[in-house]
Amino acid sequence: MIPNIIFIILLLFAILFFYRNVSVISRSINLGKKVNLRDKKLKRWKLMFNVAVFQSKMVSRPISGILHIFVYVGFIIVNIEMLEILIDGIYGSHRLFSFSGSIYTILISTFEFFALSVIIACIIFLARRNLFKVKRFWNKEMTLWPRSDAAIILITEVFLMSAILIMNASDSILQDRAVDHYVKVGAFPLSSLVIPLLDGLSTGTLIFLERFGWWFHIIGVLMFLNYIPYSKHFHVFLAFPNVYYTRLEPKAQMTNMPSITKEVKLMLDESFESQPDEENAEEVIFGAKDIKDLTWKNLMDSYTCTECGRCTSRCPANITGKKLSPRKIMMDVRDRLEFLSKRNTRKGLINKKDLFDFITQEELWACTTCNACAIECPVNIEPLAVILEMRRYSVLEESSAPALINTMFTNIENNGAPWQFSPEDRMLWAERLEVPILADKFNEDKKPEYLFWVSSAGAFDDRYKKVSREFVKILNHLKIDYAVLGTEESDSGDVARRAGNEMLFQMQAMTNIEMLNAYEVNKIIICDPHDFNTLKNEYPEYGGNYEVIHHTQFLRDLIKESKLKIDSDIFKEKKITFHDPCYLGRGNDEYEAPRKVLNTIPSIQIEMKHNKEFALCCGAGGGQMFKEAEEGDKEIFIERIEEAIETGADIVATACPFCMTMMTDGIKYKNKEGEIKNYDIAELVSLGLGL
Ligand code: SF4
Ligand code: SF4
Repeated sequence: MIPNIIFIILLLFAILFFYRNVSVISRSINLGKKVNLRDKKLKRWKLMFNVAVFQSKMVSRPISGILHIFVYVGFIIVNIEMLEILIDGIYGSHRLFSFSGSIYTILISTFEFFALSVIIACIIFLARRNLFKVKRFWNKEMTLWPRSDAAIILITEVFLMSAILIMNASDSILQDRAVDHYVKVGAFPLSSLVIPLLDGLSTGTLIFLERFGWWFHIIGVLMFLNYIPYSKHFHVFLAFPNVYYTRLEPKAQMTNMPSITKEVKLMLDESFESQPDEENAEEVIFGAKDIKDLTWKNLMDSYTCTECGRCTSRCPANITGKKLSPRKIMMDVRDRLEFLSKRNTRKGLINKKDLFDFITQEELWACTTCNACAIECPVNIEPLAVILEMRRYSVLEESSAPALINTMFTNIENNGAPWQFSPEDRMLWAERLEVPILADKFNEDKKPEYLFWVSSAGAFDDRYKKVSREFVKILNHLKIDYAVLGTEESDSGDVARRAGNEMLFQMQAMTNIEMLNAYEVNKIIICDPHDFNTLKNEYPEYGGNYEVIHHTQFLRDLIKESKLKIDSDIFKEKKITFHDPCYLGRGNDEYEAPRKVLNTIPSIQIEMKHNKEFALCCGAGGGQMFKEAEEGDKEIFIERIEEAIETGADIVATACPFCMTMMTDGIKYKNKEGEIKNYDIAELVSLGLGL
């Protein structure tokens, strides 16, 4: 009776303490701004089952992924035995589930198999971290506490699982000796293997061992339960809701800032009258300075982070030695939140007054917005969301950005392009080519089927102007009904938005949309994946709804409809490798269109080590194209071109102006101009057609 009472008191105490801790975390998460992530329920459930329940993203790294799945499944299965232990503890019964007869042997065998698997997996994990020192577990942010936390959890799991096996082995011998209370309940196949070691012990010692194993396991589990809310292991609970509430928009689509929309509308449209927003009557802060400026989902992300470092190991900035580590961004958010909720009053946190005392400008501006971190994260965390909100605060509230970024803003404001070119020169790329202008067509009362959006890079970048030319040659050759905006086109605002200047972005977007709508544009073809993403995903927020097609998708469709065929064998002996642009691939999930086009060009296709969703960024996105790179070991474009060179390719194919610049610079840097060429897919098609 007394053991039962002690057990019930311990259990109640553990549950209450756990409830208290979870309530504090829940309140902390609710400090974040509101965001509605309750739509598309079916899609969310599917995602949760796929990513959280079936751990689909874990196996992208097979060894650690499979070991983790053993620990995860073991954790769930062994908890069924916990249920029996709990009921036995409350009622004083022994092995209550044994009423199931022969099924009990199967149950116990399964528990023991997974208990042993967990022990083996945890020992391998400990060895990987501490003996083999896998790099991602030893980055700067992995200070003593995060490393100890991981070790505490792994060692505890080894002890807890061992306790089950010792308990079962002792129980098995006691059953064989027909000791009172230990009735025969079936075979214990795995723990029986240690019976020879225990067989010589007295019955009293065995009863002690069996009881010790039982109490050690249950007390260990209750302590573990209450340790978890203080540890990165809280992800065992939060992974499921966190994946369920994943942002479902394309990864490259940035969230809107309605407060800026109101201001821009007031500036652009004198007849627009702003309505007082009672819900947000308090002072509006643009971007994020501290915890309350992030959304509750950003905060839940931080509590869900397992500190696995997969994101950091794929981050192009981190790989090339820069300070930015997406894992550290999430750990910093959690540290700040823990401090504000008074759960962590570590001395080092007291003097920090907001997130900028945790995350430096150097880290924020090293990000290429490539989304490799979000794709890699096994629990769908988005460190980029925090980075972009903090950039917005820096630019909009503090006017603080790298000098060259400010120059880029000024150029867009004055010239409608990120470089210092006159808007009047926007059509120079098309010299001596026949390129129809939309305004002329409109005056003739004609409505072309497609608008070719040339983009700032397509109009002004020396290398990419050639791509624009080759692309219109294809359009002309295939007699496509199209036109361009000519000098009326202005920058899409993409780079301004990624660099934090939401005001400038929305001004550009609304001005462009007004013109596109006036021309009744429906279908838009774009070579630049950044503008493709902006017009396709972000312009609808401001009334710009178009069918936006990337040029590789357009060419793929023409091939599918047998309107385009490339017979030339000029590339027949050439090895071509494709570099995935982040804003087309990870950002908009388009990996196949460029490959389908390449497959129809007689040539040899080869892939780089990192390709498709795991492709390495070229280093130009997120404003990097317009500023100096942060200090590191090497430039990102060099890392990427080295991968391309490793394949032995003759041609690096791209489908983005920024990637083109970076690959070209990389080839020059490596002095490989004689051996490897860089072409856009449009150029390869045009050359293949002999245009
Ligand atoms: S978006 Fe890319 S560069 Fe930025 S933190 Fe993530 S992985 Fe690193
Ligand atoms: S953000 Fe995701 S990938 Fe990065 S450390 Fe945390 S859990 Fe791992």
